Amino acid sequence: MTSARFGSVGGRAVLVADSLAGFVDIEKFSGGKLPSDPMACIERWSEVCSLAKSLASAKTTELTPLDFDKLDCPVPRPRQIFAVGVNYKAHAAEMNHGLPKEPLVFTKFPSSLNRPHGQIKLVGEKCDFEAELVAVIAKGGRNISLTDAWSHVAGLCAGQDFSDRALQYANTPPQFSLGKSRAGFAAIGPYITDAATLATRGNLEMTCRVSGEVMQHTQTDDMIFEIPDIIAYLSSICELFAGDVIYTGTPSGVGAGRTPQRFLRAGDIVETTIQDLGTLRNTCI
Ligand code: ZN
Repeated sequence: MTSARFGSVGGRAVLVADSLAGFVDIEKFSGGKLPSDPMACIERWSEVCSLAKSLASAKTTELTPLDFDKLDCPVPRPRQIFAVGVNYKAHAAEMNHGLPKEPLVFTKFPSSLNRPHGQIKLVGEKCDFEAELVAVIAKGGRNISLTDAWSHVAGLCAGQDFSDRALQYANTPPQFSLGKSRAGFAAIGPYITDAATLATRGNLEMTCRVSGEVMQHTQTDDMIFEIPDIIAYLSSICELFAGDVIYTGTPSGVGAGRTPQRFLRAGDIVETTIQDLGTLRNTCI
């Protein structure tokens, strides 16, 4: 079964064809039944996925050629961006953290969102990369149960939780949210892949390369708290809303955890690839 791939071009919601060669504009392809605003489409996720089924039979001439450099952030205005720290055992060890008993949650502010092929403006000497699997909520709520959690997810995509370690560790105790919210530090995409039809959603291969060198490589089933655990936990405290973005944590291999440490430099290209979900490609300036 093929999965819907939802993205944004020129601020308008699009569906990307299976071949990745092209896309259709959702508002036009649906004959005006669905809106052009990506956030409004995420609230009507099941209709978006139904429309994606008719994309398979669309003629190639109906597709606009896909240029990844022109893709916008697929979720441009989430109300909330949550992120989970220390969610892979090997990463906990490299950062000298113990294993958390509950998900260790912080926020990235929405003003830090970036394009899938966007630029990262480095600040200082200690900007770092963190490849992450990202879940996007389709249906909000409070007190979502473990068994219901997947039905609240629109889809999954790759994410980069860029981190200014100098800012993160400037004080004792450290604080996460500002160090991870500089301009462009929240890259997600390149598009959202429907989770309901993704057989591999519980165990995906994830790789992060910096200027061609593999820095992080894991299977996502090595997470301490899986996506349903995180949704159940978050929604027991905060109301979740359609379009909310959840970063699920990074595996080992980040720059700060390496010997010697490897922080980002102008000219570095950070590529984050997740099996079946595509590749983010961010250029450091
Ligand atoms: Zn992170």
